[in-house]
Amino acid sequence: MKSILGFGRTEEDTGTNVTITEEPPAEMPRCSLVNVRFPGKDRTYSYYNDLFDLHEGDLVFVSGKLAGERGVVDSVNYRFKINPTAYQRVIGRIVISMKGTYAPVLDKMVSIDREAVAPETFRSWVIPPADDGEPPEYIKGEGYSFDLEHFAECPEVEEAILNRALDYCTEGRVCYLSVRDHVGTAFVEGTKWYQVDFRYEDGYVRDMYCECPYPGLCKHSIAVLVTLREILKRIGDRDFTAMTGGFFIQMMTAGRQRIMLLPPEDGEQTA
Ligand SMILES: [Zn+2]
Repeated sequence: MKSILGFGRTEEDTGTNVTITEEPPAEMPRCSLVNVRFPGKDRTYSYYNDLFDLHEGDLVFVSGKLAGERGVVDSVNYRFKINPTAYQRVIGRIVISMKGTYAPVLDKMVSIDREAVAPETFRSWVIPPADDGEPPEYIKGEGYSFDLEHFAECPEVEEAILNRALDYCTEGRVCYLSVRDHVGTAFVEGTKWYQVDFRYEDGYVRDMYCECPYPGLCKHSIAVLVTLREILKRIGDRDFTAMTGGFFIQMMTAGRQRIMLLPPEDGEQTA
Protein backbone atom coordinates (compact mmCIF):
# COMPACT_ATOMS: atom_id res chain seq x y z
CA MET A 1 0.00 0.00 0.00
CA LYS A 2 1.35 3.41 -0.95
CA SER A 3 1.62 6.08 1.61
CA ILE A 4 1.56 9.50 0.06
CA LEU A 5 3.19 12.44 1.74
CA GLY A 6 1.67 15.83 1.34
CA PHE A 7 -1.37 17.78 2.25
CA GLY A 8 -4.71 16.01 2.39
CA ARG A 9 -5.39 12.46 1.27
CA THR A 10 -4.92 11.02 -2.17
CA GLU A 11 -6.91 7.88 -2.87
CA GLU A 12 -4.82 6.11 -5.50
CA ASP A 13 -5.81 2.67 -4.24
CA THR A 14 -9.12 1.89 -5.87
CA GLY A 15 -10.52 -0.51 -3.32
CA THR A 16 -9.06 -3.75 -4.70
CA ASN A 17 -6.96 -4.32 -1.59
CA VAL A 18 -8.48 -6.54 1.06
CA THR A 19 -6.90 -6.47 4.48
CA ILE A 20 -7.45 -9.62 6.51
CA THR A 21 -4.99 -9.07 9.33
CA GLU A 22 -5.91 -7.49 12.63
CA GLU A 23 -3.37 -4.74 12.02
CA PRO A 24 -4.84 -1.26 11.63
CA PRO A 25 -4.78 -0.07 8.01
CA ALA A 26 -1.65 1.84 6.95
CA GLU A 27 -2.02 5.43 7.96
CA MET A 28 -2.10 8.35 5.54
CA PRO A 29 -0.20 11.20 7.16
CA ARG A 30 -2.07 14.47 7.26
CA CYS A 31 0.05 17.57 7.82
CA SER A 32 -1.00 19.56 10.81
CA LEU A 33 0.08 21.98 13.47
CA VAL A 34 -0.80 20.42 16.80
CA ASN A 35 -0.92 21.63 20.37
CA VAL A 36 0.63 19.02 22.63
CA ARG A 37 0.13 19.02 26.38
CA PHE A 38 2.68 17.42 28.71
CA PRO A 39 0.76 16.43 31.84
CA GLY A 40 3.98 15.73 33.81
CA LYS A 41 5.30 19.24 33.08
CA ASP A 42 2.01 21.18 33.04
CA ARG A 43 3.01 22.75 29.68
CA THR A 44 1.49 22.96 26.18
CA TYR A 45 3.49 23.67 23.01
CA SER A 46 2.83 23.68 19.24
CA TYR A 47 4.50 21.12 16.98
CA TYR A 48 4.56 20.51 13.23
CA ASN A 49 3.40 17.04 12.17
CA ASP A 50 3.84 15.47 8.72
CA LEU A 51 4.13 11.80 9.75
CA PHE A 52 0.73 10.89 11.18
CA ASP A 53 -3.00 11.53 10.94
CA LEU A 54 -3.33 12.96 14.45
CA HIS A 55 -6.45 13.41 16.52
CA GLU A 56 -7.27 15.01 19.83
CA GLY A 57 -6.28 12.71 22.69
CA ASP A 58 -3.51 10.87 20.78
CA LEU A 59 -0.31 10.23 22.75
CA VAL A 60 2.86 11.40 20.97
CA PHE A 61 6.62 11.82 21.25
CA VAL A 62 8.19 15.06 19.98
CA SER A 63 11.63 16.41 19.12
CA GLY A 64 13.27 19.23 21.08
CA LYS A 65 13.72 19.77 24.77
CA LEU A 66 10.73 17.59 25.69
CA ALA A 67 12.03 14.60 23.71
CA GLY A 68 11.28 11.40 25.62
CA GLU A 69 8.22 12.87 27.41
CA ARG A 70 4.80 11.47 26.54
CA GLY A 71 2.52 14.27 25.32
CA VAL A 72 -1.22 14.41 24.67
CA VAL A 73 -2.58 16.06 21.51
CA ASP A 74 -4.89 18.84 22.70
CA SER A 75 -5.94 20.25 19.33
CA VAL A 76 -5.16 19.73 15.63
CA ASN A 77 -5.02 22.57 13.10
CA TYR A 78 -4.87 21.93 9.33
CA ARG A 79 -5.05 25.53 8.17
CA PHE A 80 -1.67 27.09 8.73
CA LYS A 81 1.37 28.64 7.13
CA ILE A 82 4.59 28.31 9.07
CA ASN A 83 8.34 28.37 8.73
CA PRO A 84 9.11 24.73 9.61
CA THR A 85 12.60 25.57 10.88
CA ALA A 86 10.95 27.43 13.74
CA TYR A 87 9.09 24.35 14.94
CA GLN A 88 9.96 21.09 16.65
CA ARG A 89 8.14 18.05 15.25
CA VAL A 90 6.00 15.13 16.27
CA ILE A 91 8.31 12.11 15.83
CA GLY A 92 6.21 9.25 17.21
CA ARG A 93 2.61 8.34 17.88
CA ILE A 94 1.89 5.85 20.63
CA VAL A 95 -0.54 3.18 19.47
CA ILE A 96 -2.30 1.57 22.39
CA SER A 97 -4.02 -1.74 21.91
CA MET A 98 -4.48 -4.00 24.88
CA LYS A 99 -6.03 -7.43 25.02
CA GLY A 100 -6.22 -10.15 27.63
CA THR A 101 -7.45 -10.60 31.16
CA TYR A 102 -5.53 -8.95 33.97
CA ALA A 103 -5.81 -9.48 37.70
CA PRO A 104 -4.31 -7.39 40.51
CA VAL A 105 -1.22 -8.86 42.18
CA LEU A 106 0.61 -6.57 44.64
CA ASP A 107 0.71 -3.13 42.95
CA LYS A 108 0.62 -4.72 39.46
CA MET A 109 -1.98 -5.83 36.97
CA VAL A 110 -0.89 -9.31 35.88
CA SER A 111 -1.95 -11.41 32.92
CA ILE A 112 -1.08 -14.97 31.96
CA ASP A 113 -2.51 -14.53 28.45
CA ARG A 114 -0.13 -14.83 25.50
CA GLU A 115 -1.89 -11.86 23.91
CA ALA A 116 -1.08 -9.53 26.82
CA VAL A 117 1.13 -6.50 26.08
CA ALA A 118 4.43 -7.70 24.54
CA PRO A 119 7.79 -6.17 25.56
CA GLU A 120 8.30 -4.51 22.14
CA THR A 121 4.86 -2.92 22.46
CA PHE A 122 5.55 -1.59 25.94
CA ARG A 123 8.92 -0.25 24.78
CA SER A 124 7.16 1.74 22.03
CA TRP A 125 4.93 3.32 24.70
CA VAL A 126 7.77 4.72 26.81
CA ILE A 127 10.85 5.05 24.59
CA PRO A 128 10.65 7.30 21.52
CA PRO A 129 11.81 5.98 18.13
CA ALA A 130 15.54 6.49 17.44
CA ASP A 131 16.46 9.44 15.19
CA ASP A 132 17.45 7.16 12.32
CA GLY A 133 14.66 4.66 13.01
CA GLU A 134 17.20 1.97 13.93
CA PRO A 135 17.43 0.62 17.50
CA PRO A 136 20.89 1.00 19.09
CA GLU A 137 23.24 -1.98 18.85
CA TYR A 138 24.59 -3.18 22.20
CA ILE A 139 27.79 -4.98 23.03
CA LYS A 140 27.37 -7.41 25.95
CA GLY A 141 29.87 -8.78 28.44
CA GLU A 142 28.96 -11.53 30.86
CA GLY A 143 25.56 -11.14 32.50
CA TYR A 144 24.57 -11.80 36.11
CA SER A 145 23.12 -15.12 37.28
CA PHE A 146 21.16 -15.78 40.48
CA ASP A 147 19.20 -18.31 42.44
CA LEU A 148 16.08 -16.14 42.68
CA GLU A 149 15.11 -17.22 46.20
CA HIS A 150 18.54 -16.36 47.65
CA PHE A 151 19.86 -13.62 45.35
CA ALA A 152 20.07 -11.04 48.17
CA GLU A 153 22.86 -13.09 49.80
CA CYS A 154 25.11 -12.86 46.73
CA PRO A 155 28.27 -10.74 47.18
CA GLU A 156 27.42 -8.70 44.06
CA VAL A 157 24.36 -7.28 45.84
CA GLU A 158 25.50 -4.18 47.75
CA GLU A 159 23.31 -3.20 50.66
CA ALA A 160 22.96 0.47 49.65
CA ILE A 161 21.93 -0.53 46.12
CA LEU A 162 19.51 -3.13 47.48
CA ASN A 163 17.85 -0.44 49.62
CA ARG A 164 17.52 1.88 46.61
CA ALA A 165 16.05 -1.04 44.66
CA LEU A 166 13.46 -1.66 47.38
CA ASP A 167 12.48 2.03 47.16
CA TYR A 168 12.06 1.54 43.41
CA CYS A 169 9.76 -1.42 44.08
CA THR A 170 7.66 0.57 46.57
CA GLU A 171 7.39 3.41 44.05
CA GLY A 172 6.14 1.02 41.33
CA ARG A 173 9.11 1.83 39.08
CA VAL A 174 9.42 -1.70 37.71
CA CYS A 175 6.59 -0.64 35.46
CA TYR A 176 6.63 -3.65 33.12
CA LEU A 177 7.86 -7.19 33.66
CA SER A 178 7.23 -10.27 31.55
CA VAL A 179 8.50 -13.82 31.26
CA ARG A 180 7.70 -15.67 28.04
CA ASP A 181 9.28 -19.01 27.14
CA HIS A 182 12.11 -18.32 29.64
CA VAL A 183 12.82 -14.88 28.14
CA GLY A 184 12.43 -12.13 30.73
CA THR A 185 12.07 -8.42 29.95
CA ALA A 186 11.49 -5.48 32.28
CA PHE A 187 11.23 -1.71 31.90
CA VAL A 188 12.21 0.35 34.91
CA GLU A 189 11.55 4.07 35.22
CA GLY A 190 14.58 5.76 36.72
CA THR A 191 16.03 9.10 35.61
CA LYS A 192 15.05 7.65 32.22
CA TRP A 193 13.58 4.33 31.09
CA TYR A 194 15.88 1.32 31.23
CA GLN A 195 15.30 -2.14 29.79
CA VAL A 196 16.46 -5.13 31.82
CA ASP A 197 16.83 -8.49 30.03
CA PHE A 198 17.33 -11.93 31.51
CA ARG A 199 16.51 -15.61 31.19
CA TYR A 200 14.40 -17.39 33.78
CA GLU A 201 14.00 -21.10 34.38
CA ASP A 202 13.07 -23.18 37.43
CA GLY A 203 13.93 -20.56 40.03
CA TYR A 204 17.15 -19.41 38.33
CA VAL A 205 17.81 -16.06 36.63
CA ARG A 206 20.63 -16.05 34.08
CA ASP A 207 22.24 -13.61 31.66
CA MET A 208 20.79 -10.54 33.35
CA TYR A 209 21.67 -7.20 31.75
CA CYS A 210 20.48 -3.62 32.30
CA GLU A 211 21.11 -0.94 29.69
CA CYS A 212 21.93 1.75 32.29
CA PRO A 213 25.55 2.98 32.58
CA TYR A 214 26.12 1.81 36.21
CA PRO A 215 29.25 -0.39 36.28
CA GLY A 216 28.02 -3.23 38.49
CA LEU A 217 24.78 -4.82 39.62
CA CYS A 218 22.42 -1.82 39.48
CA LYS A 219 19.27 -0.95 41.40
CA HIS A 220 17.16 -1.54 38.27
CA SER A 221 18.27 -5.18 38.01
CA ILE A 222 17.82 -5.78 41.74
CA ALA A 223 14.36 -4.18 41.70
CA VAL A 224 13.45 -6.56 38.85
CA LEU A 225 14.70 -9.56 40.87
CA VAL A 226 12.61 -8.54 43.89
CA THR A 227 9.50 -7.95 41.76
CA LEU A 228 9.94 -11.22 39.85
CA ARG A 229 10.34 -13.20 43.07
CA GLU A 230 7.28 -11.63 44.71
CA ILE A 231 5.01 -12.10 41.68
CA LEU A 232 6.05 -15.73 41.09
CA LYS A 233 5.48 -16.45 44.79
CA ARG A 234 1.87 -15.43 44.29
CA ILE A 235 1.00 -16.81 40.83
CA GLY A 236 3.27 -19.88 40.73
CA ASP A 237 6.08 -20.65 38.30
CA ARG A 238 4.48 -19.65 34.99
CA ASP A 239 4.76 -17.15 32.13
CA PHE A 240 3.17 -13.78 32.84
CA THR A 241 3.01 -10.10 31.92
CA ALA A 242 2.78 -7.48 34.67
CA MET A 243 2.33 -3.73 34.63
CA THR A 244 2.20 -1.26 37.52
CA GLY A 245 -1.50 -0.58 38.21
CA GLY A 246 -1.38 3.22 37.91
CA PHE A 247 0.43 3.06 34.55
CA PHE A 248 -1.95 0.32 33.34
CA ILE A 249 -5.00 2.51 34.06
CA GLN A 250 -3.33 5.54 32.45
CA MET A 251 -2.63 3.67 29.20
CA MET A 252 -6.04 1.99 29.17
CA THR A 253 -7.73 5.36 29.51
CA ALA A 254 -5.56 6.95 26.82
CA GLY A 255 -6.25 4.01 24.48
CA ARG A 256 -9.99 4.20 25.15
CA GLN A 257 -9.96 0.45 25.82
CA ARG A 258 -13.14 -1.46 26.40
CA ILE A 259 -12.96 -2.88 29.90
CA MET A 260 -14.91 -5.75 31.36
CA LEU A 261 -14.75 -6.55 35.02
CA LEU A 262 -14.90 -10.29 35.63
CA PRO A 263 -16.02 -11.91 38.89
CA PRO A 264 -13.29 -13.70 40.81
CA GLU A 265 -12.81 -17.29 39.62
CA ASP A 266 -12.62 -18.91 43.02
CA GLY A 267 -16.37 -18.54 43.56
CA GLU A 268 -15.94 -16.29 46.58
CA GLN A 269 -18.19 -13.56 45.23
CA THR A 270 -21.32 -12.89 47.24
CA ALA A 271 -24.71 -13.37 45.60
ZN1 LIG B 1 20.41 -0.41 35.58
